[in-house]
Amino acid sequence: MRLFAAVFFGLGVVFCRAFELKNFNFGDHGYNSVLTLLNETNKLCPDISRIYSLDEKTVEGRDLVVIEFTADTPGTHVVGKPEFKYVGNMHGNEVVSREVLLALVAYLCQGYREKNKEVTWLLQKTRIHIMPSMNPDGWELANSRPRKNGKKPWLDGRANANNVDLNRNFPEVDKLEYKYEKLKDGLNNHIMTLNKALSTPHLAPETRAVIKWLYSIPFVLSSNLHGGDLVANYPYDESRDYSKTSQYSASPDDVLFRYLAKSYSKFHPSMSDPMRTPCDMSGDQDLPEFKDGITNGAKWYSVAGGMQDFNYLATNCFEITLELGCNKFPYPKEEKKYWEDNREALVNYMFQVHIGIKGVVESNGKKVPNATIKVINMTSGSPIKHDVLSGKLGDYYRLLMNGDYKIRVVADGYYPEERCVTVSNKHMKEAQVVDFNLTPSSSKEPERRNDCVPSRQLDLDGGMEQKLQDSLYDRIYGDYVYNTNDYQLYDYLKRILRPVIGI
Ligand SMILES: [Zn+2]
Repeated sequence: MRLFAAVFFGLGVVFCRAFELKNFNFGDHGYNSVLTLLNETNKLCPDISRIYSLDEKTVEGRDLVVIEFTADTPGTHVVGKPEFKYVGNMHGNEVVSREVLLALVAYLCQGYREKNKEVTWLLQKTRIHIMPSMNPDGWELANSRPRKNGKKPWLDGRANANNVDLNRNFPEVDKLEYKYEKLKDGLNNHIMTLNKALSTPHLAPETRAVIKWLYSIPFVLSSNLHGGDLVANYPYDESRDYSKTSQYSASPDDVLFRYLAKSYSKFHPSMSDPMRTPCDMSGDQDLPEFKDGITNGAKWYSVAGGMQDFNYLATNCFEITLELGCNKFPYPKEEKKYWEDNREALVNYMFQVHIGIKGVVESNGKKVPNATIKVINMTSGSPIKHDVLSGKLGDYYRLLMNGDYKIRVVADGYYPEERCVTVSNKHMKEAQVVDFNLTPSSSKEPERRNDCVPSRQLDLDGGMEQKLQDSLYDRIYGDYVYNTNDYQLYDYLKRILRPVIGI
């Protein structure tokens, strides 16, 4: 399965170099023990880590603690170095995410100290933020509840100490976006400023703290980790038709999001396994919808006010939501297995922050923040109606699948600039750098370039992801390879089917 996943995603990842954690105690990490573990890690790896807390505390006065990892420059955003985050335990009674993120913290530190090639590369090229618990108050409540038949109560500790479900508490950006979609050239990104977001009524302090965090760091990719099921969930979370509790609600980046979700599920030993036991033993109907271990959020069930869609629609960050297992609060002795099951997926997903393109928008040496980066997929001929903006230092990051694109940069006071780009993502390779030097509109208009011509030499593994994922090829042969690790057959089919698929 690993080999197939690696080939399928065109990233060449085979995690044969994954290593065992030393001196890590799996178990229920209470608030103080989380702080101790983070501090000890920071002492072990002072050059590559930093601990900080968000602006506001929880209802009960606990810090929302984050540990950041990056080589050379902890504490500073560096142009060209993408920002990544994992947020765990948003629902306080879903503890697996908290435990696996703490293990990941130890793993990154140990991997760097032992000069593990992948960990070192990741930390040199990425700034990674890990918040093991967004709801430490809820964890305390859940932890205090006795087990019955081995299980904690299903809901106690899910919400914060004021009984607010944090994953329903973000500003409802989906509704706004669905209105904008109906307008010609309606806003498709950053549809809410920080001040507007903070003025939303009834924000919990934890939500408010996270909103400020999202606007203060130019995050590119993230995941929000949960428990209670086993699936990778991607935007949108809310149905376009609000009356429907289940409706596939594709975002403009649907193909990319499905890829991102699979870049987790396929690296987990059972998330994408069609034969796995459903979580709801009474006859859960989720599995047909969870093909490949992924689901569109609204298709599963519609959620308003979730954190995932807020990231995508109000900031530059692309986020998916991961459900790490049926049992929300397993026994401490089971947690090592959860870590082992998620280790490769957690690492592989972080690498995805390096797909696509990145660069700086400037004009004669002056950085241009808030420039709009628009993308037209030349392979399909359609625009991807979700723009990203350049940050304060003029840098931008645009996650993209392999393929041909026209990139158009628009900024007030400048002529638009276009560039043709062929994206070819590879494992342990940074996003392609595509810088823009804009001409002020007070100067003579520069000559236009020729229109982009799509390349015909696309990499089948990733270039035609949508075609591949939906194709007969994937449906018929994908599962075979998936089940048998038959790379040679996969390679053979790839070659003979290339002309049939038409690329
Ligand atoms: Zn949850």
